[in-house]
Amino acid sequence: MFEKILIANRGEIALRVVRAAREMGIATVAVHSTADSDAMHVRMADESVCIGPPSGAQSYLSVPAIIAACEVTGAEAIHPGYGFLSENAGFVQVVEDHDLTFIGPTAEHIRIMGDKITAKDTMKKLGVPCVPGSDGGVATLEEAKRLGEDMGYPVIIKATAGGGGRGMKVAQNAGEMEKAFLTARAEGKSNFGNDEVYIEKYLTTPRHIEIQVFGDGKGRAVHLGERDCSLQRRHQKVFEEAPGPAISAEERAAIGKTCADAVARINYTGAGTIEFLYENGEFYFIEMNTRLQVEHPVTEAIFGVDLVREQIRVASGMEMSFQQEDLTINGHSIEVRINAEKLPNFAPCPGRITQYHAPGGLGVRMDSALYDGYSIPPYYDSLIGKLIVHGRDRPEALARLNRALGELIVDGVDTTVPLFHALLQEEDVLTGNYNIHWLEHWLETNLGDG
Ligand code: ADP
Repeated sequence: MFEKILIANRGEIALRVVRAAREMGIATVAVHSTADSDAMHVRMADESVCIGPPSGAQSYLSVPAIIAACEVTGAEAIHPGYGFLSENAGFVQVVEDHDLTFIGPTAEHIRIMGDKITAKDTMKKLGVPCVPGSDGGVATLEEAKRLGEDMGYPVIIKATAGGGGRGMKVAQNAGEMEKAFLTARAEGKSNFGNDEVYIEKYLTTPRHIEIQVFGDGKGRAVHLGERDCSLQRRHQKVFEEAPGPAISAEERAAIGKTCADAVARINYTGAGTIEFLYENGEFYFIEMNTRLQVEHPVTEAIFGVDLVREQIRVASGMEMSFQQEDLTINGHSIEVRINAEKLPNFAPCPGRITQYHAPGGLGVRMDSALYDGYSIPPYYDSLIGKLIVHGRDRPEALARLNRALGELIVDGVDTTVPLFHALLQEEDVLTGNYNIHWLEHWLETNLGDG
């Protein structure tokens, strides 16, 4: 087992990794930009190294600075968290070249899954059901139009290198194709340096269901059920739950096995998430994330496992601590993402926290790096906390969420907390009757957010 690991991230996820490491008796090194000198992850880690100026590109994304920090502190392995360098195959290669361990999958797995066309092709070959669409990339507008006619509108044009909801455009009809095709290409080029796009049938009322998988890198893999992350704004998740209210035990077992078998066949290492759209009882693969997800705590809650601990174990060469038979679901869990954003337009709202009080009590987990007097810097993501609740069943989890939201105090900046208070008044949310478009419609109707 490692004696010391470095965490190449910030905020709540850096703290999350510190906590797991500390329980395992592993020392931690935090890295930080000059804007984060007073950040909680720096205070909580055993050691810290300043790696650059505020901009992410010059600090949390600076590969030489992070490798140097490992060398200076003697850290043996790097946990990347999510975002930043977590899905950067080039970084993993550099880490390995320096005889350090990347706590995550291999560079090759990241490369395969990071290109959505290759990912889809790989999954199809592994027997995973995919959204009907083009066979690989679509090079010209003429080809895109022909495919639109063949498949039938609406269709979605996606940048193969896309992520975070960017590089995707819907064409409702032939008339919209030119603009959608050119915009998706341009977004792919400007955001990800790759203008290759492909086309999929646009599903109109699906849920977003994702399967948590975990592999030991030696051909053994398990699944930890699904998360329903259908409540999204601009293709970004805001409310996630497990198990999915619409998924039966039989469906879970079947799609879970398909996913576990697929990643076992490619000797996948560590945590991964296979994302699907789910409509009329069918699952359609959209992409795989080769890292820990923001919403991993809902899975941890219902299975009673520590996924970060497991990632560290497997990266160090140990066996997984569970097998498929050990993994049984206990109750229901919901997470809401608390962002420093001002409604109704979700404008980022950095600033000083004058008062912070985290909710507590049975079945409540608050993952956050906030503290009284902390100043949220304007340079990074607006996620400031995740409130996760666990109950014996969905109604109990909902009641607990309502109660915990009422206890939470975040003064000094605007947050998305009022959104969740409002959503918990909605019959559709209370009954789990929603799909990936539900929240967009609700926001348009109730907040005029479009
Ligand atoms: P990203 O990598 O940017 O997160 P994904 O491929 O995971 O992109 O898709 C993100 C979201 O976009 C999905 O959760 C869903 O809401 C929507 N989406 C993606 N593909 C389709 C599709 N074929 N039909 C309908 N919605 C889609």
